[in-house]
Amino acid sequence: MDTRTGLPIVGMVGGGQLARMTHQAAIALGQSLRVLARTPEDGAALVAADVQYGEHTDLAALRTFAKSCDVVTFDHEHVPGEHIRALAAEGVRLHPGADALRYAQDKALMRQRLTDLGAPVPRWRRVATVDELAAFGAQVGWPVVVKTARGGYDGRGVWVIDGPAGLAAAGLDPADRPELELIAEERVALRRELAVQVARSPFGQIAVYPVVETVQRDGICVEVLAPAPDLPQRLAVAAQQLAIDLATALDVVGLLAVELFEVDGELVVNELAMRPHNSGHWTIEGARTSQFEQHLRAVLDYPMGETALTAPAVVMANVLGGADGGIGIDERLHHLFATDPGAKVHLYGKQVRPGRKIGHVTVLGAELSDVRGRAARAARWLQEGR
Ligand code: ADP
Repeated sequence: MDTRTGLPIVGMVGGGQLARMTHQAAIALGQSLRVLARTPEDGAALVAADVQYGEHTDLAALRTFAKSCDVVTFDHEHVPGEHIRALAAEGVRLHPGADALRYAQDKALMRQRLTDLGAPVPRWRRVATVDELAAFGAQVGWPVVVKTARGGYDGRGVWVIDGPAGLAAAGLDPADRPELELIAEERVALRRELAVQVARSPFGQIAVYPVVETVQRDGICVEVLAPAPDLPQRLAVAAQQLAIDLATALDVVGLLAVELFEVDGELVVNELAMRPHNSGHWTIEGARTSQFEQHLRAVLDYPMGETALTAPAVVMANVLGGADGGIGIDERLHHLFATDPGAKVHLYGKQVRPGRKIGHVTVLGAELSDVRGRAARAARWLQEGR
């Protein structure tokens, strides 16, 4: 407990933008997030007062950090499960726990568990040889989607393979890369991608957000539309129920983001993330309770906050690092604020690299087409200065 405030101390392992925005939410709850960052340049380390430094793979560093906190949570999925287990055995409260988190860490385990639970997933199999891939492709039809079970993000770790020879061409031949664990999935004819956020507390209370549409370009999420436009009520309710059921079945504590495909009017689960997620950044302005506050409430076992939309249409657009174009970010902000006083900007304090997510903008309003246009323009201005 923090003796000055009388409040429990929440620690977050990882100092990226999710920790940065969780810290922002923590302030309103009377807290200051304690962060285990890698470097003083990490997005959260730049703004939080209570920062320790260490690697998330170093058990000793994790232990020192965790023992100074009342509850520990995560900004990313990369803390080894055995470290989380070791700390839990020593009495540290960690949310989500290792048994839940492994399904967000390993796509093969996740696919298997979802299959066992009867959740809708693409046809899939583990692939340890070219022959296994060939048999799978012959069964479901080429091309197939091949993924590394661990370590992928923003489409890195995902390949569309046209035939058995494609595996070697992509540098994935298991004979050469025995360390890679691969899965293959049928390539579903997706109409669009959806996501739904749900938060669950140790007490078991669950709050679910409206279903959103996520728009990807080159494997990176560029836009989130809330609520998902023209989504039939039947599918919206089914997606929310699915997220609630998965959070319960997997014993998730904290935020769970379920990424979905809409295929022929049905839902198929793509991915799970057990933390605040890019598909929920719109909630900062667009929902009564942001996903960051909700995550804190959940890990502290406080009652959940309302999840209702604050406007009929909310659009979040990611700002990716772009060409410099001779106009600095300060001047871009100046211009954007002059052109659209309603656009809300979140910058993560990151060094600009092409394609890297350096911030996001959110616009709210009555009409989706208007809001979407404004969000895209605002992101383009911050990205390209034009
Ligand atoms: P990451 O973990 O890197 O985000 P995903 O598994 O979410 O990777 O896949 C990235 C993108 O690839 C998805 O957003 C989707 O557009 C596409 N994709 C993934 N799996 C399939 C599939 N089985 N069928 C069709 N498209 C897919």
